[in-house]
Amino acid sequence: MIKITKDYNVIPDCIDGEDIEDKIEKIVSNKILFSWKDIDGYDKLKSSLMELYNCKCAFCEQKITPKDLRIIHFRPYKGKDTCKAYQSLAYEWSNLLLVCNRCKQLKGDKFSVTNKNPKDKQSYKDRILLKDNQERLPDKEPLKHEIPKLLNPEFDILESRFAFKPNGKMQHKDGRGLDTIVELELNNKFLCIKRKKQIDLIFKYMSWISFGFHVKILSKESYLSLLNTYFKELFLYRGAEYPFSAYNSYVFDNFNTFVKSKIRIDRVCDEIIHAFEEYKKKEKKQLQDNNNKENNMSKKKKKILIIESQPNNLTDTEANNGISGIVEAWKSSINREVFEEPKIKLATNKTKLLQILHEELPDIVHFSLHTDKAQGLIFRDREGNKDYMDKLEFKDTINNFSLKKHLDLVFVNSCNSSVYIEEIKSHIDYAIGMTDLIPPEVANLFATKFYENLFTTKSVEDAFNVGKHALKHDKTLALPENIDIPKHKIPKLYKQ
Ligand SMILES: [Zn+2]
Repeated sequence: MIKITKDYNVIPDCIDGEDIEDKIEKIVSNKILFSWKDIDGYDKLKSSLMELYNCKCAFCEQKITPKDLRIIHFRPYKGKDTCKAYQSLAYEWSNLLLVCNRCKQLKGDKFSVTNKNPKDKQSYKDRILLKDNQERLPDKEPLKHEIPKLLNPEFDILESRFAFKPNGKMQHKDGRGLDTIVELELNNKFLCIKRKKQIDLIFKYMSWISFGFHVKILSKESYLSLLNTYFKELFLYRGAEYPFSAYNSYVFDNFNTFVKSKIRIDRVCDEIIHAFEEYKKKEKKQLQDNNNKENNMSKKKKKILIIESQPNNLTDTEANNGISGIVEAWKSSINREVFEEPKIKLATNKTKLLQILHEELPDIVHFSLHTDKAQGLIFRDREGNKDYMDKLEFKDTINNFSLKKHLDLVFVNSCNSSVYIEEIKSHIDYAIGMTDLIPPEVANLFATKFYENLFTTKSVEDAFNVGKHALKHDKTLALPENIDIPKHKIPKLYKQ
């Protein structure tokens, strides 16, 4: 299962419009039954979904042939688990998933939720009211309070929920992960064999060429060059267009474990692991060079995105949380041709973070959030309630994005944030986190001084030192008694 990004604002014509609304009303009042048959443009809907899902099943990640293609309703319009609110989603773009015939049979009309009696709270009227207000995005719909047992590849963060074993089996990391594996039989024997087949073949080739090298059939150059070809293949198979890309990505990220389980000779494994590390370093440098080249060619300014998650109803000063200091620093800098004016995303909710990163494509991401030491970075949901992002989710989000776009810097300006940076530091040029509690005024002073200098010198390391210097010599801001290190020692710079 991998994340699918669907644009809910671009609804295919055949499921949008007044005649569809009429049909929905009739379905809800039991006057007609749902059907795709008389929907004009159904073929187009199928091809839109095929393109979006890379011709793969939403659940099992096998390639789907047009014959095997099925469109299913995540929330069923019929069966014992349905209700009027679900029926009203019969043609709802955000409720339609593309799956293979096998997974359609397994999912069927079943739909369980883990929180009790949510259906009592849902009504068709709620949805109509929301529709009239033009608020139909999934995070705003009345069904959002439900926690379905089954994970949804369009809404849920998936990467941190599963691990994989060398025999192709999926391992769950939480209850919903387990429910999804069980309900969709994702550890079915044949599926596991298919899942690992392609990767096993690559490891077999690696083992052969290693043998060739040791019996001197292959020169060292040819051996290394062939190994690199296979590393590249492993890298490619992580792409969403390949079947089982979630498994393939996991193998690439946990290469050492997998190579040791597939190739049993320690010396051979060590050589391959060493070559793999070298390959990754080279690829990283190449990506960086290409980015620099692109930036130089287009003379593109660097983009800074500030992520903030205070509720909407705060006053300007409360919501500001010191980030205006960064914008002011940019306004008064002399080097404005290097950086764009920092863009601030206020009241960001957790589920939108990855989408925002993909839309904005920043070079620098600055998080101005509070943290809860036990639960994570504090985002807010639509109602302003706390919504925590733990280390693993943070890691998956940043790593997922950094595969698409090189990041110069990630700065998490909140208490004890260095534990989050530890998770991502190998993917980012520079990262800054806080090693202890830090009062907002101190964090703001550091950030302002840091950016003032960054806009002038363009050097993260210089700017970091200037920020620390400012904290060291500041006499006005005192730390509370429970923090026993000097304030300039709280920020920590990580360099890849
Ligand atoms: Zn499937």
